[in-house]
Amino acid sequence: MEAKGTQGFDPKSGRMLGEVAIAAVVIVGLGVLAYIGAGWLASQATPLVSMEVDRSIGRAASAQLSLGQTACSGPEVAYVKQLAQPLLDAAGPLPFEFQFSVVDDPTVNAFALPGGYVTVNRGLLEKAESGEEIAGVLGHEIQHALLRHGTRRMLREMSGSLVLGLLVGSGDVGQAMAVGGQLTSLSYGRDEESEADLRGVELLVKAGIDPGGLVKFFERLAVDAVAVPELLSTHPDSGRRAELVASARKGAEFRPLPPPPRPACTIR
Ligand code: ZN
Repeated sequence: MEAKGTQGFDPKSGRMLGEVAIAAVVIVGLGVLAYIGAGWLASQATPLVSMEVDRSIGRAASAQLSLGQTACSGPEVAYVKQLAQPLLDAAGPLPFEFQFSVVDDPTVNAFALPGGYVTVNRGLLEKAESGEEIAGVLGHEIQHALLRHGTRRMLREMSGSLVLGLLVGSGDVGQAMAVGGQLTSLSYGRDEESEADLRGVELLVKAGIDPGGLVKFFERLAVDAVAVPELLSTHPDSGRRAELVASARKGAEFRPLPPPPRPACTIR
């Protein structure tokens, strides 16, 4: 007689193992699908969501952000606006009014919220050596807002019913704004960064501003970095950016920009 179940194949436990394996594959597969699906769904839904949502989200997130920050009000604010204006003019009719602010933060960073709320840290103005370097960053940030990258990110984080509500216009914007508040801690994906680079460089060239400043600035950050500045860690792809800028500069003519003033909010 043969001993049962000690060696050999036990059809019952074999089937169970198979079921566990299938279940594991299904669970992992669903997770991957949900992740890809959320991204796909968000990019499909973004053009259908009204620009008013971008404005509301940006206003709320910007107000939330300003609670912990001191706004600069010296010549640096007028300077940033002066550099941004030709870029906005080159962008054509705008879906919202851009608002630029400079904050008293030594971190080398700048970012754009939905609805055109762009914040520049004074650290960026101090680190930049030319107007072209700052304009390069501004062009990139303006495009993040125009391309609605923040809105897409937000839709990705939101539940399906909330997204549906925003689409049909009955959505709880307040709840969406709560998700929007987290935008300040979210960074964009690699594709969004490349798109903002590409379109930002187009904007600079169209405005007659040398896009070489963008590359120069990131290169200097990479060399100087004792601790990696915020902007560098969230804006990868230096090789691709350099190639893009080199081809955009060919045959184009540019006018020089004034250098950045020393931010008044630094002087105490
Ligand atoms: Zn970016």
